[in-house]
Amino acid sequence: MAAHPDEAEALTNLFTVVKRDGDRLVPVWYSDAYAEWLVPAADKLRAAAALTSNESLKAFLIARADAFQSNDYYASDKAWMDLDSRVEVTVGPYETYEDELLGLKASFECFVTVSDPDASARLSGYKALLPAMEQNLPVPDEVKTVRGAESPIRVVDLVYTSGDARKSVQTIAFNLPNDERVRKEKGAKKVMLRNLIETKFDRILRPIAHEILAESQQGELSAEAFFNETLFHELSHSLGPAFTTKGGEQVEVRLALQASYSPLEEAKADVMGAYNILFMIDGGHFPKDFRKKLLVSYFIGLFRSVRFGVAEAHGKGAALQINRFLEEGAATLDPTTGKFTVDEAKLEQSIAKLVHDIVMIQHAGDKAAADALLAKYGDVSAPMAAALSKVAHVPVDIRPIYPLAE
Ligand SMILES: [Zn+2]
Repeated sequence: MAAHPDEAEALTNLFTVVKRDGDRLVPVWYSDAYAEWLVPAADKLRAAAALTSNESLKAFLIARADAFQSNDYYASDKAWMDLDSRVEVTVGPYETYEDELLGLKASFECFVTVSDPDASARLSGYKALLPAMEQNLPVPDEVKTVRGAESPIRVVDLVYTSGDARKSVQTIAFNLPNDERVRKEKGAKKVMLRNLIETKFDRILRPIAHEILAESQQGELSAEAFFNETLFHELSHSLGPAFTTKGGEQVEVRLALQASYSPLEEAKADVMGAYNILFMIDGGHFPKDFRKKLLVSYFIGLFRSVRFGVAEAHGKGAALQINRFLEEGAATLDPTTGKFTVDEAKLEQSIAKLVHDIVMIQHAGDKAAADALLAKYGDVSAPMAAALSKVAHVPVDIRPIYPLAE
């Protein structure tokens, strides 16, 4: 790229494949590289557009079909933000996780969902409370930031996925599009996949709790708490510092913390999610008895995430939280039963303390402190290993089957 600066943009573009041609590397647009699939896919999207009477869905399907041929997804990303349809289609090249070389190239995926407008409307009230949540963070005022937050929340049931969306770990919520221009103009949509959240609760979280949660607290395990922790995890990604100062210049926290950024940010979203739900309970948005349910379900939920492995951001972030809480006595392991009892008062204190510590590290852009925190707490500790060995028979993930589509 240094030798061919005029080609740098195309080589690093989200939507090109880089191929070797003799002694050169040449960018090939996805529309050409994947024409074999994208041409028929665009035809199907146009055929679907002809079938729907919903204008916003029709507009998106046509714009997306065009993007498959033009490689310009900007207009169709905006049309996706404007969707006002019970049936929502999310299809295109989005995330770059599959590009393990440089994280530059987007993978195609598709979600077809059916939205619940009433449930979505109920949750949209939390958006307006984001500034209050930021002000309530347990950090000095100068650390608190203001971010634009015009982001709709949708509660949906998933009826079909393909591509990147079908591989495990199955996502239970997503926040798209990634294009910063669209985010600036229209925000990003937070989509909660309700039937997946409920299924993971029934098939994974409940059996885990059965094995590792004290008998006396079994009654506190709550599907509603798990759903809200997932929602507030997503909301909390838009709270706290996005930028830090390095040598007098503003840089993204992501760039300052490098490899430690993702596990720390995922831990932040979890623990700040719990912190914010406690704040919402204080404000009367949830009943008082939701407090115990949230604390117990949040703590046990961390064992679900840590099973993705501490090599992965969510898993490492979960290990950090569990180990901090155990060290501070927020939960204790009974060596005879092998089950944890949550000390609700202590866990509340530990939650606030951990939110404070992570936000301060992000604010300072202190990579050494982030590395040290993860090195100390981000691995599988002995009590964690004991708990995990008891749940080896519980699946780590679910695999949806779509009989109609197949
Ligand atoms: Zn997250």
